Amino acid sequence: MIENKEVKFTPLIQFNEFELIHEWTKNFKQYHPNLLKGIGDDCAVQQISENQVLLTSTDLLVEGVHFDLSYTPPIHLGYKSAMVNFSDIIAMNAMPTSITVSIACSNFHSFELIQQIYQGIQIACDELQVDLIGGDTSSSRKDLIISITVNSIFDKEKIVYRSGAKHADLICVTGDLGAAYAGLQILEREKQVFLQNPNVQPDLNEYDYVIERQLRPRARYDMIRFFNENQLQPSSMIDISDGLSNEINHLSKASKLGAVIYQDKLYSDYQTQKVSELLNIPLTTFMLYGGEDYELIFTISPQKYNEVTKNKDIRIIGYMTEQFSEPMLLQLDESYIPLKPYGYHHFGKS
Ligand code: ADP
Ligand code: MG
Repeated sequence: MIENKEVKFTPLIQFNEFELIHEWTKNFKQYHPNLLKGIGDDCAVQQISENQVLLTSTDLLVEGVHFDLSYTPPIHLGYKSAMVNFSDIIAMNAMPTSITVSIACSNFHSFELIQQIYQGIQIACDELQVDLIGGDTSSSRKDLIISITVNSIFDKEKIVYRSGAKHADLICVTGDLGAAYAGLQILEREKQVFLQNPNVQPDLNEYDYVIERQLRPRARYDMIRFFNENQLQPSSMIDISDGLSNEINHLSKASKLGAVIYQDKLYSDYQTQKVSELLNIPLTTFMLYGGEDYELIFTISPQKYNEVTKNKDIRIIGYMTEQFSEPMLLQLDESYIPLKPYGYHHFGKS
């Protein structure tokens, strides 16, 4: 505690991000019965008619915290800012319909820079047919700040929450794991090389895939179409923004069940494996704790095994267990270790 004459101030570092959100919001009342889900899922869900809901999610991207303009092309930054928001809607088994974009920028930023960010946002909007419906513009003292809010008007019965997983459901994941974090490691490393010797031209071709996964992630809307075309309804779902281990913990907590993940079922790209060797960081660290893959983790009834495995980009990595407990990893040597909710956290504790 820092002593002030009248007031005691608690440093933020004493809390993790989720504790802070809980502490600051816990006394709010809910006034409207049409609010089906407030804080605690990928989106808030409000019922707007008998069969339809309005989904809303918002994200804040801060220069120096979420992105580094020295190696991020602004057009990719715009695309990513929109896509990570779309991903929160997609994680509810819905498609986004509109966004608002708010920007704060300073004299360090040019007109063209912001224009290119908007071009990237537009490319993402065109890809998923999303309307830009407004926003806000402000100056800032130094850093660029982008805040995007995304909405979706969608069928109520299609919506999938984090909390719906059932005992013995299969745990599935799309795509490969850890690539975005591997890409970030390469970009950060090249930045240090460049700062020491600006004449060195990096050759990043052999890491093009992981760098693209970091700079220009694409939300898995193809999976929403796959579910729809095959009449599949996941029982719970979340997107991977803060690493697989963290997200499995969210699913487990929300569904009040345990989970077992098989280490030998976790899949990564060849380039992620190369980065793991290059930096001498275990591959499982990338796959379990690397953030920003924006792949989907979902659970589904074991009766749907055949339909789900039709899609070669979906892998079954584990199953939900009966009792609420810490999710476990079954390692290659057949021993179990707890899957800790480590990953990227703002402020102090993880
Ligand atoms: P995500 O990783 O999907 O962006 P977060 O971890 O940021 O989600 O947020 C978790 C939950 O807390 C969400 O429901 C979000 O809307 C809510 N939330 C986050 N920050 C705040 C805040 N400052 N005030 C109120 N609610 C918040
Ligand atoms: Mg957030």
